[in-house]
Amino acid sequence: MRALSKSALEMPASGIREIMELAWKTPDCIHLEVGQPDFPTPEHIKEAGIQAIRNNFTSYTPSRGIVELREAICLKLLDKNGIGARGENVTVCPGAVTALDSSIMAIVEDGDEVLLPDPGWPNPEMMVRFLQATPVHYLLYPYLGFFPKVDEMEKLITKKTKAIVLNTPSNPTGAVFPKELLLEIYNLVSKYDLYLITDEIYEDLVFDGEYFSIASQDKENRVVSVFGFSKSYAMTGWRLGYVYAPKNISAIITKLQEPLVSCASSISQKAAAAALNGPREPVEMMKNVYRRRRDLAVSILKEHGLYEYTPGGAFYVMVNVGKLGRNSRQVAKFLLKEYKVAVAPGTAFGQSMGEYVRVSLAASEEDIKTGLERICRAVKEAAS
Ligand code: PMP
Repeated sequence: MRALSKSALEMPASGIREIMELAWKTPDCIHLEVGQPDFPTPEHIKEAGIQAIRNNFTSYTPSRGIVELREAICLKLLDKNGIGARGENVTVCPGAVTALDSSIMAIVEDGDEVLLPDPGWPNPEMMVRFLQATPVHYLLYPYLGFFPKVDEMEKLITKKTKAIVLNTPSNPTGAVFPKELLLEIYNLVSKYDLYLITDEIYEDLVFDGEYFSIASQDKENRVVSVFGFSKSYAMTGWRLGYVYAPKNISAIITKLQEPLVSCASSISQKAAAAALNGPREPVEMMKNVYRRRRDLAVSILKEHGLYEYTPGGAFYVMVNVGKLGRNSRQVAKFLLKEYKVAVAPGTAFGQSMGEYVRVSLAASEEDIKTGLERICRAVKEAAS
């Protein structure tokens, strides 16, 4: 048989799936490995989807997305993110995953180097590798609250560097990059003539302070920013996200939708327009619940001497379980088998995370309390 695609074969698989699959086979375990909201989609959004089906709004749409949704997105980008976008800057995609992948595909090619965070959500690295480009990791330091050192990032830049990818608020750390840090990174991108791809899918889950989008300050058409509906509106299964990009890049991203997906689901687009045009209360309600869970997790970690930092957003916290051993994949399996608690291994997000596990706060307060206390007990028992 002829060989299959080398780049597809060599693309790494996601390291989160393995533990998820084991966890679903472990009865009575507490699920703190899951990376999606545990709320239903708000009623008015579901209703808009149902109406779309009833009204036979069930055909292909333009590759960029329907006008009604893109207009709502432009208003939101201006209102929330301070980005002056027009229709020609926005592409609607099936999930932020596609938005991110097609942004990377529009910018990165064979032989390029791309700066990616370690730890970071694995999908951008998978796409960079698939394109035969080279990922170069910049570290996020736990003792800095999982922020990078910009002078270190600068040292990683070579003639081959094409882009920097960042994710704020972050999966897996929950860290929210402050405005000053984002401006420093933008200066780097400008100094070395690079592109900056920002994954801002958790933008609505920021617990303290104002949210800042660096694309609002982009005078040089270098910033491409990805947003989504999955986390803000508990809509993971609807598969809807979008990307803001300078006009020339946006045109390529839109062109790429044709061979990849043609367009996002027409039904989901109607639901997403209702999400943006509808009441904010459900988003605020979910954010407040996540904030309470974050506070609970932090207080349990403090009580047991495992506290390192306070995540400013998203719904994750990285926990140092180094006392259980240095191979976090084995540690995650051990915690599942012996303590009946499922977490994601730190190394699924980067080589620097061998001593960490990611705890998801997309679970009930009761599960977070029981699960985290089990992890703390495991660490204590290993140390004694
Ligand atoms: N970016 C990050 C950082 C994520 O955690 C996720 C989902 N886990 C996504 C993008 C993709 O989200 P979507 O469901 O919109 O494709």
